[in-house]
Amino acid sequence: MHPRLAAIEETLLMGPGPSCVPPQVYEAIAASTIGHMDPRFVEVMDEVKVFLQKLLNTSNKLTIPMSGTGSAGMETCFVNLVDPGDSVLVLMNGVFGKRMADVATRLGAKVDTLEFEWGTPVIVDDVKKKLDSAKYTIVAIVHAETSTGVCNPVAEVGSLLAGTDSLYLVDTVTSLGGIPVEMDAWGIDALYSGTQKCLSCPPGLAPVSFSEKALGKLGSRKNKVPNWYLDLTMITQYWEGRKRVYHHTAPVNMIYALHQALALILDEGLENVYRRHMENHQALAAGLEEMGLSLLVKPESRLPMLNAVCIPEDVDDAGVRSALLNEHRIEIGAGLGPLAGKVWRIGLMGHTARRESVDRLCDALKSVLN
Ligand SMILES: *Cc1c(COP(=O)(O)O)cnc(C)c1O
Repeated sequence: MHPRLAAIEETLLMGPGPSCVPPQVYEAIAASTIGHMDPRFVEVMDEVKVFLQKLLNTSNKLTIPMSGTGSAGMETCFVNLVDPGDSVLVLMNGVFGKRMADVATRLGAKVDTLEFEWGTPVIVDDVKKKLDSAKYTIVAIVHAETSTGVCNPVAEVGSLLAGTDSLYLVDTVTSLGGIPVEMDAWGIDALYSGTQKCLSCPPGLAPVSFSEKALGKLGSRKNKVPNWYLDLTMITQYWEGRKRVYHHTAPVNMIYALHQALALILDEGLENVYRRHMENHQALAAGLEEMGLSLLVKPESRLPMLNAVCIPEDVDDAGVRSALLNEHRIEIGAGLGPLAGKVWRIGLMGHTARRESVDRLCDALKSVLN
């Protein structure tokens, strides 16, 4: 007999995602698979849309989970909105801003970037100068830069774009469910997220929302969306209306899982969820400081759900991470790009953001470092 995967030992997931999955979500994913056109499933889909609208603070009708991980959400936003030759400005201070620029370039956009030092936030005054000097079809930013632990000023950049023709495209993969996201109030036109960060669902879905202005751009395309699978003009016919049209088979059980994960967040209350993330982040920061460790990002720009910890000179980066995993069953993340070998990334996302996670990690890290 082949071994059963159920025997995989649980790990405390304190990296940059995936995060710990609560038992109710595992139960939801194990419910009976029904047909993707079954009216009972359509009801679940409709509820998921409403739950997402609440979490995003948006009245956008087109608010749905795409099949695929967070990167599929990124691709969805760009592939539906970029016409070849469109000018795109990417505000870049980490890996995911870089990935946005790559995606937009592949679609034939004229991509301009405004770069900021990794570990520091986007500077609004610099963005203002840039926008005064040139016009862009799309301006893109990452809310929570998971590669550095920096929170970018999404609301402030949104104010700069208010009343202009530019579309505002925002990555909320790591922020959604951990800090407030105000899609409509911040003037965001296209937004994507992912299930495996603060939503505490296994990886596999990418919530996406488009404003009326973004839908206008989509509707005025001269050519078909150059990607069949992610084409929102077709996918909306499955997710909206009285009669649903098959596009691709929805990942039925993943949508059950997202439904349950969103219900848990809404039941706890958004303010309580955000406070829980902040309080556990503060407890972690205090615990790390007590051990003589420091955080990369200045306090005013820190993300509660992603803590970039400077690795002391004489410490073996990979050795510590594998000791945590093998001896303590705790996963933390490595640094990426210019921060490889310089920081650890400790996640407190969703169901992971609990006091017992903070205490277990601090105890384990103390014992490994000694
Ligand atoms: C994780 C992440 C992504 C990519 O999501 P995947 O699920 O790995 O495809 C994109 N943007 C940000 C900010 C992320 O943290």
